[in-house]
Amino acid sequence: MIDINKIRKDFPIYDIQPKLAYLDSAASSLKVRSVIKQVDHYYMSLGVNVHRGAYELAYEATKLYEDARITVSKFIGAQEDEIIFTRGTTSALNLIAHAYKEILKPGDEIITSELEHHSSLLPWMVVAKKTGAKLIYIPLTKEGRITVEGFKSVLTNQTKVVAITHVSNVMGYKTPIEEIARLAHEKEAIVILDAAQSVPHMEVNVKELGVDFLAFSGHKMFGPSGVGVLYGKENLLNSIEPFEFGGEMADQVFKDHATYKEAPLKFEAGTPVISGAIGLAEAIRYIESIGIHEIHEHTHQLHQYTLDKLKNVEGVTIYNPTADNPVIAFNVDDVHPHDIATMLDQYNISVRAGHHCAQLVTKFLGVNSTLRASFHVYNNIADCDTFIDSVKAAKEFFL
Ligand code: PLP
Repeated sequence: MIDINKIRKDFPIYDIQPKLAYLDSAASSLKVRSVIKQVDHYYMSLGVNVHRGAYELAYEATKLYEDARITVSKFIGAQEDEIIFTRGTTSALNLIAHAYKEILKPGDEIITSELEHHSSLLPWMVVAKKTGAKLIYIPLTKEGRITVEGFKSVLTNQTKVVAITHVSNVMGYKTPIEEIARLAHEKEAIVILDAAQSVPHMEVNVKELGVDFLAFSGHKMFGPSGVGVLYGKENLLNSIEPFEFGGEMADQVFKDHATYKEAPLKFEAGTPVISGAIGLAEAIRYIESIGIHEIHEHTHQLHQYTLDKLKNVEGVTIYNPTADNPVIAFNVDDVHPHDIATMLDQYNISVRAGHHCAQLVTKFLGVNSTLRASFHVYNNIADCDTFIDSVKAAKEFFL
C-alpha cells in the first residue's frame, strides 16, 4: 500500500492548487519535486553541452547525461547503446518510419490498428504513400481490442512492419504484444511498439516483449516535457539511416560524403535534450522508489472505484468498462464533451475532451469526441468522489 498523503507532498502543484483533482495524466502527468530539482541542478550548476568540452563542467554534464541513458536502459531491460534520447514518442516513431521509407517496397505490408495515436499511425501513412507499401488494419473486437486472432488474420508473407500501440490512450486496452511479436518475427517483420501509455503504468521489459523498437515520453511519467526515448535492437539501429544530420553524429566528414558514429550517437545529431534526459532519469528513480507494481495497484483501485460509481450514473455512456489502464472514456448523453469538461473545470477537475489525437478510435466508437478521465499515483479517493459528484452536477445542469 502506498502512502498517498506522502506522495501528494512530492508534487508541488498541490501546494499551489490544493483542491486540484487532476484526471488528465494520460495526456501529461504532474511533475514531481525531485525531477524539477534535478533539472534545476543541471541549469544552476552545469548548464553546458555534453560530449564536446574538455573541461570539468562538460565532463560532469556528460556523465549525468550518459548515466541517464544507463538508468533508462535498465528500467526497460535494454542495453545502454540501444537507448536514443528524442523529443518524445512522436519524434521517436517518426525517426523509425523515416528510415523505413528507404527500405519498404511496393506491395510490402505495414500492419497497424484503428487504436493508434496519430503519432503511431500518420508516419506510416506517409511511408506507405511514398513507398507503395500497403497499410493493413488489424480487425478489432466488438469491444475495440487488438487480439492475437485479429492479428493472425492480417499477417502475411508481405508483412514487413508491425507498428502498434502497447496501450491505447483512449480505451486503455493492452495489446498482447509478446505473441504478436513472436508471430511477426516468424515472417521476418519488424515490430515497433508505441509504449507512451504503458511505460508510465506497468513493468515494460523490451526483451521479454520481444519488440524491435519501442518509444515513450518523459512527460507522462513525472519527467520533463521535450524528452522521450527510442529503444531499438542494436543491430537494427546500426543498419538504418539517421533521421537528422549534424553535430556529434558524424565520424569522418569528407568533401562529398561522411561516415557516422554507431548508435546511439548516430541518432542524436546536434545538442541533445540534456536537461530532459537528466530529469527523466530522476523520474525513473522516483517511480522505482515507490514501485511500478504499487503504482499500478493504487491506480487500479481508484479506477475500479470510479468506474463502479460512474456506471450507476444514469445518462452516462462508458466506452471502455474493461480497460486495463486506469482510463475511463465516456460521454454524458446529449451533452457535448467540451461543455462537460468546461463545467468540471469549475469544480477544479481536469479531464480531457476531444478525439485525443486518435480519430480512428472515436470513429470506431461512432462518436465525434469523448471525455477521458485518467489516473496516476497522486490521485486519491477524494478526487474520484469529486469527479463523480461533479459529473452528476454537470449532467443536471445541462439536461
Ligand atoms: N502515443 C500515445 C499512445 C500517446 O498517448 C501519446 C501522447 O498522448 C503519444 C503517442 C505522443 O506522445 P508525445 O506527444 O509525447 O510525443
